Amino acid sequence: MQNAYQKMDTAELKAAIAELEREVEETRAKELKLDMARGKPSPEQVNISRPMLDILTSDADLMDEGVDCSNYGCFEGIPSARRLAGEFIGVPPEQTIVLGSSSLNIMQSILIHYWEKGVPGYTPWSKLDHVKFLCPAPGYDRHFGITQDLGIENVPVRMTETGPDMDEVERLLAEDDSIKGMFCVPKYSNPTGVTYSEETVRRLATCKAAPDFRIVWDNAYAVHDLTDDGDKLANIFDIAREAGNEDRILGVASTSKITFPGAGIAFFGSSPANVVEVANTLKVGLISANKLNQLMHTRFLPDLDAVHEHMRKHAEFLRPRFDAVERKLSEGLGGTGCATWTHPNGGYFVSFDGPEGSAKRIAALCAELGVKLTPAGATWPYGNDPHDTNIRIAPTYPSVDELEAALDVLVLATKLVSAQLALEER
Ligand code: PMP
Repeated sequence: MQNAYQKMDTAELKAAIAELEREVEETRAKELKLDMARGKPSPEQVNISRPMLDILTSDADLMDEGVDCSNYGCFEGIPSARRLAGEFIGVPPEQTIVLGSSSLNIMQSILIHYWEKGVPGYTPWSKLDHVKFLCPAPGYDRHFGITQDLGIENVPVRMTETGPDMDEVERLLAEDDSIKGMFCVPKYSNPTGVTYSEETVRRLATCKAAPDFRIVWDNAYAVHDLTDDGDKLANIFDIAREAGNEDRILGVASTSKITFPGAGIAFFGSSPANVVEVANTLKVGLISANKLNQLMHTRFLPDLDAVHEHMRKHAEFLRPRFDAVERKLSEGLGGTGCATWTHPNGGYFVSFDGPEGSAKRIAALCAELGVKLTPAGATWPYGNDPHDTNIRIAPTYPSVDELEAALDVLVLATKLVSAQLALEER
């Protein structure tokens, strides 16, 4: 299917480019300085959690169901926090560990552990000739960074509207037992906003794979619905257990985008055997996590109902921003055939695709015009988007006015680059 510029005759196309270049010069003269790159909450949004900071005062009760949070001990986490972790991840509280503030840190520690020592009963990954991880793409660059840093080969698998392309995943896993893991953001995936369908979840939990194959089930956006009618995710732990694969799933989540990014609490949840083994490893380097932070969090958000109530307040800030993305993109690019984008029901991102070979040029032009985007290519392993189409839009941090101005620039840059590509093709 041709886009609007490809359909024009050459004279029309040249005139359209001249007009778009004039608009670009007008925009350049405005000397904008806008940032649509950061996947973090706006300052006003973070302020919602400030009342939590008043909970632990010098005369507060620092006991949690018999555990003294003001001293060492209780490595796996305080009882109220493990209960919350279990609700978040979808496993019983005994199958959780509540740690410091970062889920990324937990993922890295576990993968380094398997790299050095191996999944129990199997060769350490570092001793194998070749180790690969499946990376749904577009995906989260920091996931890809953990494995890349270890020397694991990242193998992209295309995302679809129901999750990773499962035919491809099953084909690769059946023929290649050097594939030892896979990253999944199963709800409101970063950056597509896709929630994995029940069939995808089932196939991931049950498909044939190497016995030491592990899925990093990063449910970072588990409760981040934009409306009360959010997406539903099937419980992979239940399905994996029934299939005899319960050790396959490594669940993680955190309150980074619920309370304070970088100062929340992070959760790990998995099979009973994995939890014991991971705890034994992490205990080597940690006597106990910050239990006062855990206590402050669970007094503020005692259960999942309280979390959902809190997330409704976040959604009030997020909805107008996601609406602005949809409105600006459909007004500016709808019907041109130059771009497609996702329409998520939650999470932190919109995934945008321009014509083949356009993303780096669009991002560069936006940067020239004062709009910073996540670097084009970042959503693919090694920064290598094979068709150079994808741009991650992070609408949460800027104000709605700033966001609208940044989206106008993205629309303009997409039109000009699409038109230029159409002319270069001739
Ligand atoms: N996983 C995903 C999918 C994310 O988008 C993010 C934050 N951008 C993280 C993990 C990082 O979470 P944490 O702060 O718990 O390390």
